[in-house]
Amino acid sequence: MVLSRYYRLMKSDDYSHSAALLERVGRLLTTEAHAEGLLPVHWEALRYLQHANRFSMTAAALTTYLGLTKGTVSQTLKALETKGLVKKRVNSKDRRSNTLSLTAKGRKLLSRDPLISTVHALERLGSSQHSALADGLEALLSARLAAQDRQAFGQCRDCRYFARQHADGQPHYCQLLKEPIATSEASAICFEQIPA
Ligand code: SF4
Repeated sequence: MVLSRYYRLMKSDDYSHSAALLERVGRLLTTEAHAEGLLPVHWEALRYLQHANRFSMTAAALTTYLGLTKGTVSQTLKALETKGLVKKRVNSKDRRSNTLSLTAKGRKLLSRDPLISTVHALERLGSSQHSALADGLEALLSARLAAQDRQAFGQCRDCRYFARQHADGQPHYCQLLKEPIATSEASAICFEQIPA
């Protein structure tokens, strides 16, 4: 009885330690993201636009993804537009909304993304350690997002609406939005994604 209580306490300490490690990693990433005259939120928006699919390139989807206020995201986009890193154009299918995209300057800047040093550190972990870490982080992120009733923004190829090799002649097809999906888009993230 006493022993099992001891093990429960040990486990709880382990989980607290993991949470503290995540917090420290998060702090390191935030500190590094004050780079190239940008703020961490600017980099997050640029990365989102680099990885989002064509249905998700809007200020509204970016706001949901970041979990920030509309005003903060609007200021962020204004700063990125002023720096010539992002451009806005009227959506040809719905003239009341705008579509966002990265400019050539924005794409070039992302080749100096401060997150790259963390990518290199992950590469050095080795494949089995990295794979266990990636699985754990994915499970944690999805549990935390679900607890806050927030969207997953997962990859298209893992979505319940993704039809592989659809018979309409296109490589793939979105059964929700009724649109073809190119193979190059299958790994992009989407605001409508629901895990399969
Ligand atoms: S299949 Fe899912 S993730 Fe892909 S575009 Fe459709 S809704 Fe989005």
